[in-house]
Amino acid sequence: MRFSLGVLLVLYLCSCGYAQKVRYDNYKILNLNIQSLEQSKFIEKLKGLSSFSFLKNIERNHDLLISPRELKKLAPMLKTANITNKILIDNIQEIIDEEEVKTKAEGDSFGWDRYHSYESIQKFIDGIIEDHKDVVTPFIIGKSYEGRDIRGIKISYKPGNRGIFLESNIHAREWITSATCTFFINELLNSKNPEIRNIAENVDWYIIPVFNVDGFIHSHEKDRMWRKTRQPTTNPKCPGTDPNRNFDTHWSSDEGSSGNPCDETFRGAAPFSEPECKALSDYVRSIKDNIGVYLAYHSYGQYILSPYGHSKTEFPENYDDMLQIAKASYDAILDQGYGTKYRYGSTASVLYVASGSSVDYAYNELDIKIGYTFEFRDQGRYGFVLPSINILPNCQETVAAMIALVKESKSLGYL
Ligand SMILES: [Zn+2]
Repeated sequence: MRFSLGVLLVLYLCSCGYAQKVRYDNYKILNLNIQSLEQSKFIEKLKGLSSFSFLKNIERNHDLLISPRELKKLAPMLKTANITNKILIDNIQEIIDEEEVKTKAEGDSFGWDRYHSYESIQKFIDGIIEDHKDVVTPFIIGKSYEGRDIRGIKISYKPGNRGIFLESNIHAREWITSATCTFFINELLNSKNPEIRNIAENVDWYIIPVFNVDGFIHSHEKDRMWRKTRQPTTNPKCPGTDPNRNFDTHWSSDEGSSGNPCDETFRGAAPFSEPECKALSDYVRSIKDNIGVYLAYHSYGQYILSPYGHSKTEFPENYDDMLQIAKASYDAILDQGYGTKYRYGSTASVLYVASGSSVDYAYNELDIKIGYTFEFRDQGRYGFVLPSINILPNCQETVAAMIALVKESKSLGYL
């Protein structure tokens, strides 16, 4: 029997696993606690090995996604190095499977009791545009590498408002970010709460609910733990660039990003090598005179992070204002009564050095003087696969944080 080229291609794609979903059966999330410089050096060595994927990387605290086989190899090494460690998740695939069942059962209604597919989020946005034509204007900043429109909406109740720009899901696997962002859009348009009405009607909101569209779809359809874009790199085995290291500001700093395409923080071959990042920068530049605050939603860790990301020792001239606004948001989140504590401060001083991010770009190159990265729930218990029961509480906390942020930014003259 002879196969046509097409059939052979399909067989080949199936046999190499391309068409299948990446599975994480019995993969663990392992938390490592570092107490000494020697242990730190040991961790640095581990980071050089591509078989380990670090999910969280802060000085003394690291979360590692690890296969059972690699864990067998690593366990005696950790023991020798005397590194305290604990398994946070024993089988991450179980959580991914539960999440998938809920997402697929979505039906017609759009709610915040589960995560939604890209199509479902697009339908929600279409509905919002249709139902609120008087105040909502759709926009498209450009196309992703795979040719999808990157969509946003502007919400404006009256002329003369200053604006806030908000992007979410620049990192594909951070599903809580678009879930929270869509909730926030819904509140801005439909809530009757006077505090929400106030921030809805006296600020122009420019919002992109799913920025890294290709990556987001890939994280739903192929690999739940996908973070980057989908454009190929010089290494055929490792496609994708970290879009939040690809902006043209302090780009190529080796401490805050990686030059290795196989790393999660790969900065790309050049600044703005990713069409998504170029499109975002062009769009925000075109409206920058109207923008007082730039926000990016991420997960996880519970942080409110302001510039700078590139340096631990330098701070912006208006850093005190940034801290004051962040503190107000922190208090508002805590006031919601879930006991959720965030930390706030500059990215480099509170979390880690990260260069080439969108928030730093907006601050350094576009002169948008207030900017934050919100790292949502949790602190690592579930990390990126945050159970959907957390969506609504996270949304409530974020709305409260936005109310406080707008109030404080206005009182300091930024909005
Ligand atoms: Zn992120």
